[in-house]
Amino acid sequence: TLCQVMFEGQQTTVLLETMAGKGTEVGRSFEELALIIEGVADKRPELSAKLGVCLDTCHVNDAGYDIVHDLDGVLDEFDRVVGIERLRAVHINDSKNPCGAHKDRHECIGKGYLGGEEFGGGMQVMQNIVSNGRLRALPFILETPNELAGYAAEIKLLRSLQQ
Ligand SMILES: [Zn+2]
Repeated sequence: TLCQVMFEGQQTTVLLETMAGKGTEVGRSFEELALIIEGVADKRPELSAKLGVCLDTCHVNDAGYDIVHDLDGVLDEFDRVVGIERLRAVHINDSKNPCGAHKDRHECIGKGYLGGEEFGGGMQVMQNIVSNGRLRALPFILETPNELAGYAAEIKLLRSLQQ
């Protein structure tokens, strides 16, 4: 368990990742993540500050959080349930599946449901994500199905979108 592998004075912050909710996967809701964090904090308060969350944009979409139409509403919900100060990193991926599909199939930036054509060019959602005041200072990590050249192009694209 986390209480067994974590120790007082460790330099590394452990990030729990938001999950898509396929099968019996744990961490599909902000409530489940909060329960894990509170469980550790109750038993070992000294470890609480070393525990954070990584938000995966594909996973939260697949889990049913509508970041396409209401990113700020989803972040408000995260803040209410987990606490926004726990959010330390973003896995930025598009999704092959619509909101709530519980699938976990990453797609290249702008090719999936987070870059939907209904948003004229498809980049408005990604622009909202990389420019959001509560996200833009966090580390963004790509986990898209790509080779190196594809990653370079996506990094360039995302940087050009950030406001
Ligand atoms: Zn991820």
